[in-house]
Amino acid sequence: MNKDNDTICAVSTPHGEGGLAVVRLSGPRALDIADAAWKGRPLREAESHTAHFGTITADSDGSPLDEAVATIFRGPRSFTGEDVVEFSCHGSRWIQREVVARLVALGARPAEAGEFSQRAFLNGRIDLAQAEGIADLIAASSRAAHRLAMRQVKGSFSRRLDEMRAKLVDLASLLELELDFSEEDVEFADRSRLLALADETILLVERLADSYKAGQAFKEGVPVVIAGRPNAGKSTLLNRLLHDDRAIVSDIPGTTRDIIEDTREIGGILFRFYDTAGLRDTADTVELLGIERARAALEKAQIVLWLLDPTQPDHASDLEQIRRHAAELPEARHFLLVNKSDLRTSDSESPSDRGGETPTIADAGMQTPSGAGDHALIDAGMQSLRISAKEGEGIAELEKMMVRAATLAHDPESELIVTNARHAEALRKGADALKRGRECLEQGISADFTAQDIREALHHLGTVTGAVTTDTLLHSIFTRFCVGK
Ligand code: GDP
Repeated sequence: MNKDNDTICAVSTPHGEGGLAVVRLSGPRALDIADAAWKGRPLREAESHTAHFGTITADSDGSPLDEAVATIFRGPRSFTGEDVVEFSCHGSRWIQREVVARLVALGARPAEAGEFSQRAFLNGRIDLAQAEGIADLIAASSRAAHRLAMRQVKGSFSRRLDEMRAKLVDLASLLELELDFSEEDVEFADRSRLLALADETILLVERLADSYKAGQAFKEGVPVVIAGRPNAGKSTLLNRLLHDDRAIVSDIPGTTRDIIEDTREIGGILFRFYDTAGLRDTADTVELLGIERARAALEKAQIVLWLLDPTQPDHASDLEQIRRHAAELPEARHFLLVNKSDLRTSDSESPSDRGGETPTIADAGMQTPSGAGDHALIDAGMQSLRISAKEGEGIAELEKMMVRAATLAHDPESELIVTNARHAEALRKGADALKRGRECLEQGISADFTAQDIREALHHLGTVTGAVTTDTLLHSIFTRFCVGK
C-alpha cells in the first residue's frame, strides 16, 4: 500500500547469478534517486519508454559499480502507474546486492513481497485477477497453463465477471426501486424476466466455479494414475511416457513400492503421472504401504491407465478387478491398456488358435460376463487400446486419447477457466447467494430479501477482481508473491 509515498526498489530477476539482472525502482522519487546513482545522460530529462547506457556509481565520488542500461517508464504509463526505472546490470550476486544497497542509501526502500504488483493494483493499472494472473504467468509450465494465465492477465476473465456484475446490478436496482414504492404495491420488474436473468447468471457463475478443478489440473498437471497388477508393465509405460528411466523396471513383482511421480507436457497440456504399486493383496507391509498410497492417488486421478498383461494366465480375473476398481471411481476417465502387444504380434498364432488365451482388444474391453459390471464400465467411459510399453506401439494414440480426455469437459484453448482457489470460492459463495435470491423471487417473498441476496452475490463476485476489497485480502494475496514482482 502506497500510503507512505515511498520509492521502492528490488531485484526483479530470479535470485542467484546470471548474465544480467534487473533492479527495479518505482515511486515518486525514482528518477531523482536513479540519477543520483547514474553517470550518463540524465534520466530525468529522458523521454518515457526509452533505454540508456551508462554507469551505476558506487558512491558520491562517482567510482563505477557497474555498466548498465537504464529503462525509463514515466507514470502513469508504467507497470505500477508510478515513475519506474529498470536497471539491467550484470548478474553477479554481489553487483545485485550493491546496486540495491546504493539505491537504498539514496533514499529508496527495499520493496516488500509483491509490492510492485500491489501498487499496480492500487493505482488502477490492473485488477486483482490480473495481478494473480501475472503470478500464474510467471509460474506457467505448459501451453495450457500459459494460455489460461495470459487470458487472465489480458482481462478476459475480469470482463466476463464485470458483465455478470453489471447484470446483477440492474437486477438489484430494479428490485430496490420497487422497494422505494412499496406502499403503492407496484412491480417494476417483470418477475419471469428476473427469474430468467437470475437463472442465466447462476448457470454462468456455477460453470465458472466448476471449471476450477480442471483449471487447477491444467496449472499443476492433469493427474494420471498408472495402475494394474504387478509386472503388467506400469514402470515401463511410465518411462515410455516420460522419455526417461525414472521408474525401476524389473521382473520381480512388487518392485514399484512407492509412488513415482513426474510431469510431462503432451499436446500443450501438462500431465502429472503417478506409477503405483500393483493393486493386489499382499503380505509385504512395505508394499502394502505403497498400495495404500496407490489407492489415495487413484482417488485424485482424472485419468487412470489400467494396464492388463494378457500373457498372464489369470488375466481374466485381472480384468474383473480392473472393472470393479474403475466402477468405484466414476469421476475419472478410465483407459484399459492391453500391454505387451509385441509378444502377441511376434506370435504367429491367432488368439483363437490358442484357445482364446490372449484376449483381443475387443475381448478385453467388452467380452465379459454381462451384468452390472459391464454397465459400470461403460458408464465409467472405459476405452481400450492395445499397446507395447516396451516397444512403443500404441503410445502416440494413447497420448492423443489422454489429451482428448483432459480437454473433454473444459478446453483451455477456447474457454475461460478458473485456476485460482480464491476465485473459485468467491464464485461458489456468489452462486449460493444468487440461488437464495432466486428462491425468494420465485416464492414471491418481499423484494428486499431478494435484493439483499443479490447484493451479497455482487460482493463475492467483486472480491475476485478487487472491485470489493479489504486490506487483509490484499495482504494475503500480495505477500504470496516474491520480492521484486
Ligand atoms: P510393473 O511391475 O507393472 O511396473 O512392471 P514393469 O514395468 O517392471 O515390467 C515388468 C516386466 O514386463 C519387465 O520385464 C518388462 O520389461 C516387461 N514389459 C513391460 N512392458 C512390456 C511390453 O510391452 N512388452 C514386453 N515384451 N515386455 C514388457
